[in-house]
Amino acid sequence: MSRAVDVAVIGGGLLGLATARAILCAEPRASVAVLEKEGRWGAHQSGHNSNVIHSGLYYTPGSLKAKLARVGGEAMIRYCEEHDVPVRRTGKLVVATTFDQLARLGALEARGQANGVTVQRLDRREIAEREPHVAGIAALAVADTAMTDFGHVCRALAAELTALGADLRTDSQALSFTESGDRTVVHTPGGEVRARVVVNCAGLHSDKIAKAAGDRPSVRIMPFRGEYAEIRPERRGLINNPVYPVPDPDLPFLGVHVTPMLDGSVHVGPNAVPALARQGYRWRDIDPRMLAELARDPALRALARRFWRHGVTEISRSLIWPLFVRDVRRLIPEIEGKDLRRHGSGVRAQAVTATGELVDDFVISRTPRAIHVLNAPSPAATSSLLIGSQIAADAFDQLDLGDAARSVRQAHLPNR
Ligand SMILES: Cc1cc2nc3c(=O)[nH]c(=O)nc-3n(C[C@H](O)[C@H](O)[C@H](O)COP(=O)(O)OP(=O)(O)OC[C@H]3O[C@@H](n4cnc5c(N)ncnc54)[C@H](O)[C@@H]3O)c2cc1C
Repeated sequence: MSRAVDVAVIGGGLLGLATARAILCAEPRASVAVLEKEGRWGAHQSGHNSNVIHSGLYYTPGSLKAKLARVGGEAMIRYCEEHDVPVRRTGKLVVATTFDQLARLGALEARGQANGVTVQRLDRREIAEREPHVAGIAALAVADTAMTDFGHVCRALAAELTALGADLRTDSQALSFTESGDRTVVHTPGGEVRARVVVNCAGLHSDKIAKAAGDRPSVRIMPFRGEYAEIRPERRGLINNPVYPVPDPDLPFLGVHVTPMLDGSVHVGPNAVPALARQGYRWRDIDPRMLAELARDPALRALARRFWRHGVTEISRSLIWPLFVRDVRRLIPEIEGKDLRRHGSGVRAQAVTATGELVDDFVISRTPRAIHVLNAPSPAATSSLLIGSQIAADAFDQLDLGDAARSVRQAHLPNR
């Protein structure tokens, strides 16, 4: 089976689905195919995360993350409300538990203000009023944080795309690419799709897809697993709303946090351990080929040299349960090992530069016929509708649809 389309999107996570939606909402005559290798939408990062709609607190002012998180979070909350996806504004606390964290808490407060996020400084007594079981000496209260179910958002987007006439294909892995006239031919087990523009939203596989499409991505993907625990039901009352630690400024991760989900369960995590396969959800998921490639890669060796101390701490905390519990007790001293049980994981697609640095900001690269999303870690779920609009506008440029590109930028994207 062969089909010609304007845009072929590879990857049916939040970013791929949001991109297809943004294209079809702005230009209903466009033809769009979404190719997803798994049998369902949102099977990887988009369905294995903390379900937090972030406020925009953490991100370097001027970065793409800062630009797209706050407005993107509001867009996501509106989308959920309009599409019957559960959502609740819960707010959250970022809690300093030791005096040496106070300077970093202050820096975070300033950063939040620079990003237009409303933050309120709390002292010990004010923390106790909101979260009586949390031990903190100071905290930031952030009102604009919300909880949702991003798996549910994926299903809502897919339903909308069906109504908009998209060609949605699950079990459709993009295997290889060839060129034919003004089209790129995407080969899948079920046939080929000939596209004027290819959008690569393949998450954990995005660097491989960029290479297969003939490009030379500036970064490679390193999978970092985030493991969760769950608090046993009788102890859920230890926490009212999400509580985060002060993040380590050397790492692009937010630290192990405690998050009440909308279904009433309370999750603790995620940590950040190197995964041994791109879809390495457990220690026993091992891809020897990937490991051999990583071992040969000077960038990954540089990364290992730089972060070995962090790595050892995180791996110990993953393998030695009392160390995990000890860390949670820094935030909630009353919690005991028997109150927690392991509860699944997600794997982050984290980009690493050629010199072994962890890339903090979103990375979207463009070639004349393709757009590659090469780094979309948290808060990309929060910002997914806006990232989708950004990619749609870029795709319209490539399709010579300047008016559609302008209207998407004006209607959806913040201009600062
Ligand atoms: C543990 C964890 C916690 C997180 N918490 C949050 C949070 O609370 N809030 C937040 O905003 N963000 C969070 N994130 C980040 C967020 O989940 C991701 O940024 C977002 O889901 C990325 O979406 P995506 O569409 O780029 O990737 P994915 O959801 O991974 O989608 C990529 C898709 O591409 C498909 N694919 C790959 N290769 C091919 C191929 N060859 N052919 C066809 N399909 C292919 C995959 O099967 C997959 O479905 C978290 C992430 C993790 C891992």
